[in-house]
Amino acid sequence: MLEFDHVTFRYAKNMPVVLSDTSLKFGKGEFIAITGRNGSGKTTITRLLTGLEKPTEGRVLYEGKDITKEEASERSRFIGYVFQQPDRQMFMPTVREEIALGPYHQGKRGEELNRMVEKAMMETDTTALAEAYPRTLSRGDQQRVAIASALAMDTEYLILDEPTSGQDGHEKKMLMRLMESLQQRGITIILVTHDMDIVARDCTRVIVIASHKVAFDGRPEELFSAKNRPEDWGLLYPASVLLGRKLPGAPYCRDMDSFCR
Ligand code: ADP
Repeated sequence: MLEFDHVTFRYAKNMPVVLSDTSLKFGKGEFIAITGRNGSGKTTITRLLTGLEKPTEGRVLYEGKDITKEEASERSRFIGYVFQQPDRQMFMPTVREEIALGPYHQGKRGEELNRMVEKAMMETDTTALAEAYPRTLSRGDQQRVAIASALAMDTEYLILDEPTSGQDGHEKKMLMRLMESLQQRGITIILVTHDMDIVARDCTRVIVIASHKVAFDGRPEELFSAKNRPEDWGLLYPASVLLGRKLPGAPYCRDMDSFCR
C-alpha cells in the first residue's frame, strides 16, 4: 500500500501551499486517475509519490515506511514513473540497454537480466525496437519503452503523467489496452489525465484535486452523476455522456446507463 499521510507541500518556505493536509491511499491493483485544473498539483503528487519531492509536513508511506528515507534505487523497485516527455528519462544508446539499466542497477546480470528485458519487451510490444536509439522514437514508442523499463524492475505501481495527450484514437486504445493488461496482473496504475473518456472507460477510481485538496475521490460514474458538477473543477464530460444526452439509447451508451439517463 502506498499512502499519503496528512501531506502538506510547498516548493519552498516562502512559496504558496500546493497541497494541504492531504491523506490518500493507493491500493494494490487499482486503476486511478488524478485530475484537476492545470496548476492544481497533479504532477506534484506524482513527484511526492515517487520520492522526487519530500512533503513539507506529513509523510508518504510504502507498506508503512517513509519512502523519502529509502534509497532512490529501492523506490524504483516498486514505483515506475513514465514522464510526460519520456525522452527525458532515456539515456542509453539502444532500447534494449535502456530497459536493462534498472535491473542492472538492482544487481541482475547475465541470463537473468536478459530474460527480464526480453519479457518486458514482449509485454510492451517493443521487441522490434530493441536495437533502436530511444530518443528518436515516437512519443508512443518511448512511452512503451519507459513502461518496459518499469516492468523489467517488477514494479508494483506505474505512474503515467498525461500519457494520452496528443495521441490519436488508435494510439490511445493500444496504450490503454496495455494498461488494462498490467492492471489485471495486479499492478496499480495511476494516471494523471484530463481525458475524461479514458477516466469513464478505464479507471476504477478518480481523484480530483482543487484548492490544494482532494475535491472528489470515488468511482467515475459518481463523478459524472447529477449530484456533482465536474465543470466546477474544470473537467469536461466524457463524449459518451454528451452524446448519450443527445441520443438516449444509442449503442455507445449501453454500458453507461447511469451516465446517459
Ligand atoms: P498540475 O500538474 O496540476 O498542472 P503542478 O503540480 O505542476 O500542477 O503545479 C502545482 C503548482 O506548483 C503550480 O502553481 C505550479 O506553478 C507550482 N510548481 C510546480 N513545479 C514547481 C517548482 N519546481 N517550483 C515552484 N513551483 C512549482
